[in-house]
Amino acid sequence: ASRALTLSPRPQERYCPGLAEEEREQLQAFSARRRREALGQGLACPVPGPCHGCPCRKCGRRLNQGDPGVSASRLGGHLWHPSCFCCHFCHQPLVDLIYFQQDGRIYCGRHHAELFRPRCASCDQLIFLEECIEAEGRRWHPEHFCCLECEAPLRGQRYVLASGRPHCARCYESLYAEPCQACGEPIGADCEEATHQGLRWHARAACF
Ligand SMILES: [Zn+2]
Ligand SMILES: [Zn+2]
Ligand SMILES: [Zn+2]
Ligand SMILES: [Zn+2]
Ligand SMILES: [Zn+2]
Repeated sequence: ASRALTLSPRPQERYCPGLAEEEREQLQAFSARRRREALGQGLACPVPGPCHGCPCRKCGRRLNQGDPGVSASRLGGHLWHPSCFCCHFCHQPLVDLIYFQQDGRIYCGRHHAELFRPRCASCDQLIFLEECIEAEGRRWHPEHFCCLECEAPLRGQRYVLASGRPHCARCYESLYAEPCQACGEPIGADCEEATHQGLRWHARAACF
């Protein structure tokens, strides 16, 4: 069973309007290279006779002649159950069987790209700059590392991450800081606090 490989809808990286020209060019070169070197489309076809009993590349269970199967030209010889033909990272089914391969594994476009470039937690685009900001395992374009509330740039500033999102110290205090039981002032992110039975105090002699 052979059929022409048609790469119909081409997965697109979206361009962040804020991307600098140089970064945009790097994104285009990156996209072109991985389309050339990693992109493919699986072929759904019944398991052919010579492959009877061979293991599914993902789950390892056997495929029998005539069962529905999927093959991938960039990973010649392997077969998958149709439901096993999914991204190695997120396990989501691959739309139109379009995959990107790396080291013998198949990925969706998003997670294949993330093997090579970090993704900005604010704009959701890949980061091609030399420099990015990293905190608690997430990354940002330096210019997108801004307070979630007031959008003040936080590069080089004090910040607090709440639920993985950066906040300036002032917004964090007004949103999240609990008042001290003694003096009534908020207990800022950089203050020591004392807690007892759910109540909070500044951990200083005047309050606690
Ligand atoms: Zn399987
Ligand atoms: Zn994925
Ligand atoms: Zn960004
Ligand atoms: Zn703020
Ligand atoms: Zn206090």
